[in-house]
Amino acid sequence: MPKHYPFLDLGKVNAPYAEELKQACSRVVDSGRYIGGPEVEALERELAAMVGTRHAVGVASGLDALSLTLSAWIRLGRLAPGDEVLVPANTYFASVLAISLAGLTPVPVDADATTHNLDTELLDAALTGRTRAIMTVHLYGRPAFDTRLEEFASTHGLLVIEDAAQAIGAAMADRRRCGALGHAGCFSFYPTKNIGALGDAGAVTTDDDALADMLRSLRNYGSGDKAYYFDHLGANSRLDPIQAAMIRVKLPHTDRENDGRRAIAAIYNREITNPLVSTPDPGPDRHVYHQYVVTTEHRDALRRHLLDNGVETLVHYPCPPHMQKCYSSLAGYYLPVATQLASRVLSLPISPACTTTADARDIAAIINKFTI
Ligand SMILES: *Cc1c(COP(=O)(O)O)cnc(C)c1O
Repeated sequence: MPKHYPFLDLGKVNAPYAEELKQACSRVVDSGRYIGGPEVEALERELAAMVGTRHAVGVASGLDALSLTLSAWIRLGRLAPGDEVLVPANTYFASVLAISLAGLTPVPVDADATTHNLDTELLDAALTGRTRAIMTVHLYGRPAFDTRLEEFASTHGLLVIEDAAQAIGAAMADRRRCGALGHAGCFSFYPTKNIGALGDAGAVTTDDDALADMLRSLRNYGSGDKAYYFDHLGANSRLDPIQAAMIRVKLPHTDRENDGRRAIAAIYNREITNPLVSTPDPGPDRHVYHQYVVTTEHRDALRRHLLDNGVETLVHYPCPPHMQKCYSSLAGYYLPVATQLASRVLSLPISPACTTTADARDIAAIINKFTI
């Protein structure tokens, strides 16, 4: 039996925090506050301080962070139903779904073959008379933001929403954090993310007072200051105080957790030398490696070879949004890079709780033995 290299074990991820998590849970039990209250407010302050924005608004999930932000902009008169939102074609389904749920029209923009993120050279060609916003996705934890995107957005008066679900703690070379780059940053604390809750949770970061107020209303059915009076058709998307307390335990360790991922990535980057396999471009910014994704024309064979040698892998993602059954509306877009990536990407174990630096060396050596 070869040694086993698991992809991710959430019990192991949370084990170092177990005592503190249990204490934090007891604190909420004893507090009698099970909706909103001090844990949620403290997390919002701590997250805003970490990201470097005036506000953070806790919501129930990363999907809701995205869709409620877009809905809030509609309520504030900054977007209108049907407006087009540019979004990378190579992203998780939820990015695009959030645009549709808000009553807006997603327009996929193809990926850059090196960064796997939105190819900012294609922005001009994607612009139409209805383009009003751009959603940039820091996919795999790699910041997806540059001066071309920034200038394009300001030239055309576009709102910029960041899908930072995979990028907590990521930052530009100039130290601006993901979540503070656009007009709103959307985070997920889904358990597998770099900082995961013990259930669902999300948050929006912003410097915009009006947006923060509108989000606070929309997450609570659209209510105003007065109880039982409703200004908007909102949602029930409150951040659970137990999850807020869990996140508060882990949030101060964000940089250390991400450094652990970066150390494993550095080993893979250095030690994977098989010419059949391309390692990800580390980029100029602080990439936090939510996933470590290699590409190869022989993806399924490499995956089999790794599994035969005890290494679990995953594919992020096997089917891009524009090829999903429910998105036949997007099937007509020509998106060759995103389409090809779906058959070539392979995610290696990267969680520092489950993969040691010695494991990473073993996995690199196993990859180097791969032949076709
Ligand atoms: C996880 C994720 C989401 C959705 O977050 P949930 O909390 O699961 O709703 C959105 N976008 C990206 C890129 C994600 O990875």
